[in-house]
Amino acid sequence: MNIILLGPPGAGKGTQARILEESRGMVQLSTGDMLRAARTSGTEMGKIVADVMDRGDLVTDEIVIGLIEEKLNGDHAGGFIFDGFPRTLAQADALGDLLAKHGTKLDAVIAMEVNDDALVSRITARSTCGACGEVYNDLTKPQPADGKCSNCGASDFRRRADDNEESLRQRLMEYYKKTSPLIGYYHAKGDLQWVPGLGEIDEVSAAIAEILG
Ligand code: AMP
Repeated sequence: MNIILLGPPGAGKGTQARILEESRGMVQLSTGDMLRAARTSGTEMGKIVADVMDRGDLVTDEIVIGLIEEKLNGDHAGGFIFDGFPRTLAQADALGDLLAKHGTKLDAVIAMEVNDDALVSRITARSTCGACGEVYNDLTKPQPADGKCSNCGASDFRRRADDNEESLRQRLMEYYKKTSPLIGYYHAKGDLQWVPGLGEIDEVSAAIAEILG
């Protein structure tokens, strides 16, 4: 099964993708994580995208489609969760073509419904474990008092350079201008399903599980 998690920054796509990985053996493909990894390892591409990402703009379709294409060439028995991809209509068309080329297709597009005020407070409170990617939130799921990740025990908590109010405002603008048209696109294809993104993590994953069956 291949699904897209669609929603603005801070909607909880990454958190839900990790839950689906554990519960269903699916593989999360987050273009944001791939781009951050390219920056950390100092590749040419990482250098090109750094400023664009920190401003909250989208990187080019060509770059992110190339990243996804590479991953689709690997094993995909458990299916993929596309997280943060596609973000433009051109990326959505490319994804459809790539999946068809691999003899597979999208099974569902899950749109996570949230309001912007909640996004600002979620994002500015967010941190992750640098070792395993576990997501924390100062308000709802604080980092453990012993300074060790509850999932893997590492002590390497990080905050993203673009998780500040100015970048977030630009990321939201990019979302509404370029990504939200995908709601109509997938609705027209009959693939779109909504879940309320603002509930507790368990409630949201239960709603997703009900859709996926
Ligand atoms: P994310 O981790 O999904 O919030 O992505 C962080 C940043 O990476 C975004 O603000 C964009 O600059 C870039 N990015 C991630 N995925 C894409 C994509 N599919 N298309 C264009 N830019 C992307």
